[in-house]
Amino acid sequence: MAIISVALPIPKRQLFDYLYEGAALPVGVRVRVSFGPRKLIGVVWGVSEKLDWDISKLKSIEMVIDDTPIFNPTLIKLCNWLAQYYKHPIGDVVQTAIPVALRKGESSLAKPMQYLTLSDVGHSADINSLSRAPKQRSLVASLRNQDIIKSKAKADFGAAAIKSLVEKDLIVPIEKASSTASTWQQDLIIQDKPMANVEQAIAISCIESKLDQYGCFLLDGITGSGKTEVYLQAIEQVLKQGKQVLILVPEIGLTPQTVHRFKYRFGIDVGILHSGLNNNERLQVWQQSANAQLGIIIGTRSAIFTPMLKPGLLIVDEEHDSSYKQQDGLRYHARDLAVIRAREENIPLVLGSATPALETLNNALAGKYHHLKLNERAGNASLATQHVFDIRQQPLQFGVALGMLERMGQHLQQGSQVMLFINRRGYAPALVCHQCGFVEHCKRCEKPFTVHKQLFKLQCHHCGSAKSIPKSCQQCQSNELTSMGVGTEQLEQGLADYFPQYSSIRIDSDSARGKNKLDNMLNSINNNEHQILIGTQILSKGHHFPNVTLVLILDVDGALFSADYRAAEHLAQLITQLAGRAGRAEKPGEMWLQTHDPGHPLLQDLINNGYAHFAQYALLERQHAHLPPYTFQALFKAQALSARDAFDFLQQIAQLFSAASGVDCVGPIPALMEKRQGQYRMQLLLQSPQRSSLQKAIGQQIKQIETLKLGNKIRWSLDIDPQDFS
Ligand code: ADP
Ligand code: ZN
Ligand code: ZN
Repeated sequence: MAIISVALPIPKRQLFDYLYEGAALPVGVRVRVSFGPRKLIGVVWGVSEKLDWDISKLKSIEMVIDDTPIFNPTLIKLCNWLAQYYKHPIGDVVQTAIPVALRKGESSLAKPMQYLTLSDVGHSADINSLSRAPKQRSLVASLRNQDIIKSKAKADFGAAAIKSLVEKDLIVPIEKASSTASTWQQDLIIQDKPMANVEQAIAISCIESKLDQYGCFLLDGITGSGKTEVYLQAIEQVLKQGKQVLILVPEIGLTPQTVHRFKYRFGIDVGILHSGLNNNERLQVWQQSANAQLGIIIGTRSAIFTPMLKPGLLIVDEEHDSSYKQQDGLRYHARDLAVIRAREENIPLVLGSATPALETLNNALAGKYHHLKLNERAGNASLATQHVFDIRQQPLQFGVALGMLERMGQHLQQGSQVMLFINRRGYAPALVCHQCGFVEHCKRCEKPFTVHKQLFKLQCHHCGSAKSIPKSCQQCQSNELTSMGVGTEQLEQGLADYFPQYSSIRIDSDSARGKNKLDNMLNSINNNEHQILIGTQILSKGHHFPNVTLVLILDVDGALFSADYRAAEHLAQLITQLAGRAGRAEKPGEMWLQTHDPGHPLLQDLINNGYAHFAQYALLERQHAHLPPYTFQALFKAQALSARDAFDFLQQIAQLFSAASGVDCVGPIPALMEKRQGQYRMQLLLQSPQRSSLQKAIGQQIKQIETLKLGNKIRWSLDIDPQDFS
């Protein structure tokens, strides 16, 4: 008889004890238990530490699901670290770390896969008899080359085509055990590779010399400098040792082209994990990776939880990308978790970027990471020249200055493509005078006020002071005060009217959602089917547009005057990334930034001296302002129908921390977006020069906070190392 502690999917920061009639169960095994009126699936997380249980009051474990743990020791440690560091309920951490199919209690053993194959009739049938059903015809044609996974066929050819072909006895569904595939090591080949240039060679040998131990490398290379080639050559060594590689890529960067590059070089199957997979497909990759049946696994944020039997190398590509931070539930940062994991697995980690996050750069400068630099271009991409366009007093049409529209016309006439970029990160804007460019500032902090239209006031997000929205400019008395921001739809319509002879396409996370949609869009752009590209952040991620020669960024000011101190960093990353994505060597492009503040030191520094220089100054500024990465933050967010409730709740939390030594509180103040979907949103920021002081203070108070009565009336959350203040 044993008393077992189980991690349950319950939003409580604790484990739950159950009785088990048998020897103790190993940590990481799933069990079914009853919890109140419900049946839940949990994971054994230890033996109870409590000694004085009244055994008659304990419920028994009803069923043990797994023979062997589904969590290996590394993942167990990672989960414990996550729960501890992010102050998150362990049960929820454990759920986040496994595929949905396992949360639901499905077997963790490899299941047979459903395939489609041709029947005898199908093999000999005249394919032209299907000419009136093109989907059926192309499915049969494809099946003549190889069997196809059923779900994949469904996605590519449609369920209706499969159904009719089955009814016509041309194809049959079959099952194949998924693990009968030969191991990848036998398939491993190395396709011709370019000779590394000097900088690449140094980077590669640096990584290779430390393959059997933990080490973190920042691969800091301009766009097109051949970072991916460095990954590929380092991966080669790892695969040759029979070890596995896990590669994280940004959410939107995971396109077939990316995957193809890895598949092609090594001739092996690549496990892919992205949000478009169904539960079974996801489980499949998880299993194959856990059994070392895959040499390379590529995935977005949550792929960091994929178990590997023979871990050899971790790579986080575009490590600065904000999609690595989860913005709800368990608000972990996959890049930070990768560092913890690499250390735990005792393997190297490569963080790659053309625009490293300031946090990462600071770690490299402090000597915690090896700083590898690639300053030369390898391919034939070119950097666009960068310019600032002063829009003060300029007539704007749907957010575009007339001068810029003319320039667009010139580029289009030459047969080039033009890209317009709208910055749509949730900026609550500042108040700017369109006549003279004056921005309303808080006198105490010398920082721009943020406009809160719903509350009819300007609020300083640094000290909390507020005033009502003025009617005219303090400096020139003009009443043309704007809070900027351009609507995509308005812009799209406007451009269609202005340039009726050219086709435009909008690319944002909405229009690119869905299987292969982004890929199709990118193809149609590269085929010149569209001349005007309108897009958001998505355009800066991993894709190259060789025929684009003009990039226009419309609302730079939103970022320049944002109360979010990371806005400047993100803007600089965006501008730099975009500048490296357009044009090619023989057809270089130009980039224009529309702004009311053409002399802004940040813009000037970035444009004249480049990202690395900008980043150095931005770090200095952060240091002087006592901001991350020189201080550490935690953000309590609350939202409620009544602003009062949200405020009072955070006020109570602020009081709990008033005596915490070394921890400062800012707020409660309204979130940058003070109202969303009818709910008022408030936040309270905690900050400390020491990570440990902040961790300790929150650790001491979190139970208390959980019991606050107001907490039942509102929704609240805690974000450690917050990235997003909207
Ligand atoms: P990054 O990932 O830094 O943007 P890539 O690895 O995609 O750069 O390289 C850009 C282009 O340069 C690719 O087409 C790649 O094949 C090519 N390339 C990379 N390294 C070399 C090299 N050493 N010699 C020749 N071409 C290279
Ligand atoms: Zn003015
Ligand atoms: Zn202030």
